[in-house]
Amino acid sequence: MPIPRLANLIDGRLQAPRDDRWLDVFEPATGQVFAHCPDASAEDVADAVAAAQRAAPGWATTPAERRAGLLHKLATLVQERFEDFVALESRDSGKPLAQARSLDIPRAIANLRYFAAQVVAWSSESHAMETGAINYTLRQPLGVAGCISPWNLPLYLFTWKIAPALAAGNAVVAKPSETTPCTAALLGELSIEAGFPPGVLNIVQGRGPSVGQAIVEHPAVKAVSFTGSTRTGAQIAAAAAPHFKKVSLELGGKNPAVVFEDADLSDANLDTIVRSGFANQGEICLCGSRLLVQRSIYGAFRERYLARVKALRVGDPHEPGSDLGALVSREHFDKVMDCIATARGEGGAVLCGGEAVHVPGRCAEGWFVAPTVIEGLGPDALTNQHEIFGPVVSLIPFEDEDEALAIANGTGYGLAASVWTRDLSRAHRIGERLDFGIVWINCWLLRDLRTPFGGAKQSGLGREGGVEALRFFTEPKNICIRY
Ligand code: NAD
Repeated sequence: MPIPRLANLIDGRLQAPRDDRWLDVFEPATGQVFAHCPDASAEDVADAVAAAQRAAPGWATTPAERRAGLLHKLATLVQERFEDFVALESRDSGKPLAQARSLDIPRAIANLRYFAAQVVAWSSESHAMETGAINYTLRQPLGVAGCISPWNLPLYLFTWKIAPALAAGNAVVAKPSETTPCTAALLGELSIEAGFPPGVLNIVQGRGPSVGQAIVEHPAVKAVSFTGSTRTGAQIAAAAAPHFKKVSLELGGKNPAVVFEDADLSDANLDTIVRSGFANQGEICLCGSRLLVQRSIYGAFRERYLARVKALRVGDPHEPGSDLGALVSREHFDKVMDCIATARGEGGAVLCGGEAVHVPGRCAEGWFVAPTVIEGLGPDALTNQHEIFGPVVSLIPFEDEDEALAIANGTGYGLAASVWTRDLSRAHRIGERLDFGIVWINCWLLRDLRTPFGGAKQSGLGREGGVEALRFFTEPKNICIRY
């Protein structure tokens, strides 16, 4: 059977890349190529930007209700094809079907609906002056916005960017990860059916240094919303700076989960702590890869925790019993295995996992790694400083609150922290002192789309989510009238 080819969406039409160059798209669970994705070029990006420029003025003056209506229509079309999206997302990224069904695709639909609803309800400020003048703020769309997303939550993060950009009245040139391009391609097809005017949403598929870079550098692209690694984020910030573009950067993390001796360690909470390390094979930027546990409960906690981690099943993403699927690519699998070797090399004890998992049958060539727990490394060890982005958690004991804070804050990252305690005063105190954009107390990944989302330090720049996203994708203009 011929391998299907994905297309770019440019000017409302599905198109092959100008150079007719293609990339292999792998199914991580089998290691086999199952699709080809455009290996687009700067010329394709230029076509997309030109289409977006033509569409932008009309879209900007389209009433918010109409823009919202199209986003809702797109959400409905995704909902109608829900199981197709679930299957495609799982196949493309290696994640269990159950994960795509419970998190990725519902959240993609929620993103489209949320920003559609929000833009209709949105209002801007006015400031009256006692001296007889009034100021009001116009929030005008920027024109053409660039959106670049990663592979770990493909459609979830793709829609997290394009939905507010479109809702706010911008035309968009978007690039999903070349590692997981499939669901964004299908969304592009549905956007035609939904009735978006040509050029309002353009999707250019391909590699970062070619397509991504061309989007960032194009003079007509006024803002770039990027989610991905800290290294790429730095390149994007540097490329955008000479053009004074707005950038929003959602980057890597080395998140702590901090368990105090007074924590409610019910089975349900313990399950959440385990999930916070291993959900989506640990390939969520918000996963807690450093598990800090107060020394007075360390031994007892470790025993219960390990029993649960060892019970996690790694297997075919199609199997309902699989808790963890495959890592997204051969390259990423090698990186995670290297990180485990580094942990061993710097003296870490592997308490469980630590090796690749062979899944027999159709998944014999897949990229599976056992959930791995490491102990015995100081906070400054490489394993506790560098993002691994896989199913690897490092246990670190601490004495008291001050030490917990010093360890938790002691990396270059500042995306998300979770804290487990019954002490309300401590929860507020530590929440205030943690250098992170997001702090969860007695929960993890509990997301309210109205809240500001993003990281401190090397985890990012700016905030998305809620009204912050609409602010990012618009230019405020103050108009002052004297009367
Ligand atoms: P990545 O930086 O390699 O790639 C992300 C996207 O950027 C891809 O679409 C890629 O093609 C593109 N890209 C690469 N080089 C580029 C360049 N020079 N110019 C423009 N675009 C370029 O990241 P990844 O490996 O796909 O994703 C994993 C990383 O993403 C992890 O570090 C993870 O923590 C981070 N992440 C962060 C968040 C967050 O919200 N903070 C969410 C998910 C993932």
